[in-house]
Amino acid sequence: MRRDDAWMDETDPNMLTVEQALERVLTACAPVAGSETLAITEGLDRILAGPVTARIDVPSSRNSAMDGYALVASNARAGARLRMAGLSAAGHPWDGQIGPGECIRILTGAVVPESADTVIMQEQVRTEAGFVTLEADPRPGAHIRNPGEDTRAGTVILDRGRRLTAADIGLLASQGIGEVTVVRRPKVAFFTTGDELVPIGQPLGPGQIHDSNRYTLRALLSRYPVEFIDLGVIADTEDAVRSALTHAGETADLMLTTGGVSVGDADFVSRLLQSEGETDFWKVAMKPGRPLAFGRFGQAVFLGLPGNPVSVMATFSLFVRPALLRLCGTVPERPLTLRARLLEALRKNPGRADFQRGILEKRDGEWTVRSTGGQGSHQLRSMSVANAYIVLPRESTGAAKGDQVEVIPFQSVF
Ligand code: AMP
Ligand code: MG
Repeated sequence: MRRDDAWMDETDPNMLTVEQALERVLTACAPVAGSETLAITEGLDRILAGPVTARIDVPSSRNSAMDGYALVASNARAGARLRMAGLSAAGHPWDGQIGPGECIRILTGAVVPESADTVIMQEQVRTEAGFVTLEADPRPGAHIRNPGEDTRAGTVILDRGRRLTAADIGLLASQGIGEVTVVRRPKVAFFTTGDELVPIGQPLGPGQIHDSNRYTLRALLSRYPVEFIDLGVIADTEDAVRSALTHAGETADLMLTTGGVSVGDADFVSRLLQSEGETDFWKVAMKPGRPLAFGRFGQAVFLGLPGNPVSVMATFSLFVRPALLRLCGTVPERPLTLRARLLEALRKNPGRADFQRGILEKRDGEWTVRSTGGQGSHQLRSMSVANAYIVLPRESTGAAKGDQVEVIPFQSVF
């Protein structure tokens, strides 16, 4: 079959499923070489180049989980009246010895003296001038946090390939670790193509549109630990596209383009990828986003996204994101999915998996989803209004009102 004929054929065997295409993308993307060491304050979302081992026990000493009184449980029962011998506050340990008939006042996080084995909470005592009377039997060991209960010195607390979260940054700080060694940021070059594209700030002539894809891409990429190289808008000529591809292929780890990947006369991106780069696949059975070219150009992994703005976002969430994370040195998680009750009927043609834009909302304790309306791949507002994809499988012909459908919240894929 000639390429031009294959183009519109919904049953084309060369058209990969989303899963097959993703598999190929992940196989082709290896973590970039190189690392850098930076302050943990710069570490959020960066990927660890090696494991991190705990240096110290946390907590480092026995301390109180409550505001109350530290005492020896075997010496005290409900009704006992104990003399308050001192105070242990956070950062101010008490260095005395608790004797028979005594306790000390203790505050949350304060060191429990060696001589005490229990903390009784302040709600379970009565106090008067230097004495407390217990209103309950103390439970031996109660309300004491033991050394190493959180982390033990010598254990691996974060693995290589870990994408650092806020909790991880705090965990490192709790260890007194101020720096981390992370995978270097992959270089991502991108450009948009199209003679109809006009920069912001210039009036539109007949048939012209503003270039929105480059701004969308920049915004999407800025959430990832990558260094991006914005190559601007490239005209629909073979020479201009070749020169941009060549430049990006020499400088970047990953190259993204938008437009020019179908089979029209001006679609130089897919044509040059085929003749001067390596094409792995260029059609995926999904809507939006069917013309998606994947391969290599020069030293860079290449993802040629469609021109339509909605397709750019859909292919970014399903393919670019996992490719980026892989290059960054981590294993991308599968998108989070949930089932929701469809509030209206949706139709589709069999042949491609549909990622319709939906509004996911909890109503009376149940997840529901409805369409954003017009689903054209040029209708960027459908993306702006939506907060989730409604996934309709490849062979389905739609879904009825009331059906449970699969939904991917945007939070998990952008
Ligand atoms: P193409 O794949 O180049 O044929 O483009 C498909 C559609 O997407 C056309 O209607 C283009 O005008 C539109 N398009 C292409 N690039 C952009 C862009 N950077 N921003 C907004 N729309 C675009
Ligand atoms: Mg174009």
